Amino acid sequence: MKQRSLWKALLVIGSLCMAAPVLADSSFRVIASFSVLGDLVKRVAGDEIDVVTIVPRGQDVHRWELTPPNVLAIEEADIVFYNGFGLEPWLRHVEAMAGNDLRLKAVAEHADFTPLPTPVGRLEGAPDPHMWMDPAGASAYVEVIARTLAERYPQKAEGFRVRAEETRRSLGLLAERIHERLQGIPQTNRVLFTSEAGMAYFARAFGFEYAAIWGSNGETLGSAFDMAAMSERLTHTRPPALFFESTTPYIHMDALSRESNIALAGPLYVDALGDSDGTAYNYPAMLTHNAELLHMALGGARP
Ligand SMILES: [Zn+2]
Repeated sequence: MKQRSLWKALLVIGSLCMAAPVLADSSFRVIASFSVLGDLVKRVAGDEIDVVTIVPRGQDVHRWELTPPNVLAIEEADIVFYNGFGLEPWLRHVEAMAGNDLRLKAVAEHADFTPLPTPVGRLEGAPDPHMWMDPAGASAYVEVIARTLAERYPQKAEGFRVRAEETRRSLGLLAERIHERLQGIPQTNRVLFTSEAGMAYFARAFGFEYAAIWGSNGETLGSAFDMAAMSERLTHTRPPALFFESTTPYIHMDALSRESNIALAGPLYVDALGDSDGTAYNYPAMLTHNAELLHMALGGARP
């Protein structure tokens, strides 16, 4: 996008000659692939950078298809932040569009954080992409985001550094609060069964036994084989509740819940933030919502 830089320079010179206002900072544009990552990028970028999110809140990041406005936004952007580890299969179209100056950054793949293997499904054993579900994973993302922004916009590096530090501190406090809240759930009830295997990092961080019906929303959902395997598991392990997620169909867990006579609870928020006026409106709110739901459904002690 050298041509674009030239245009920017000409516009600035032109605007100075005409005593018109110079270009606003909104000429700095970055993309985040989905709403959870968009929230983290905005925290580091601050108000000076325009952050556009491709997959909106409430929508499934695994199954998205690029829209014409998405394509226009990508053409205008300097950096595309995405998760990686196969979370966004549609990203191959972005790669095909990318010019020399468009930086693509797979945040999870560069994060200083130990990946877990996907526990079930077609991608069993491959790195599980849902690292952000552990606040320590999100914190590692923030470090990658700050470093990438500073490389691209060195004149703003100090602001990125300060905001990243502040964000990482607040993520540490969030983890402590969630840990404390979940401590109220009796040890024998600390069993988390979801539709998609998106909460393995959360389960590792906060001490839950974990299982899911399928590996990723990008594969066949609720095949007869997968449903039978989960049904079999429920005959041995009887958790107080089963959970569905905001971007998975409700019907599979509902069927297992009826068959096993185990309560159904949800939605948990994993692959997308909830509505802006709801309980999962940003990253800390999303994890807090999930912790409160688990606390309620798994028989947590009253405060
Ligand atoms: Zn997912």
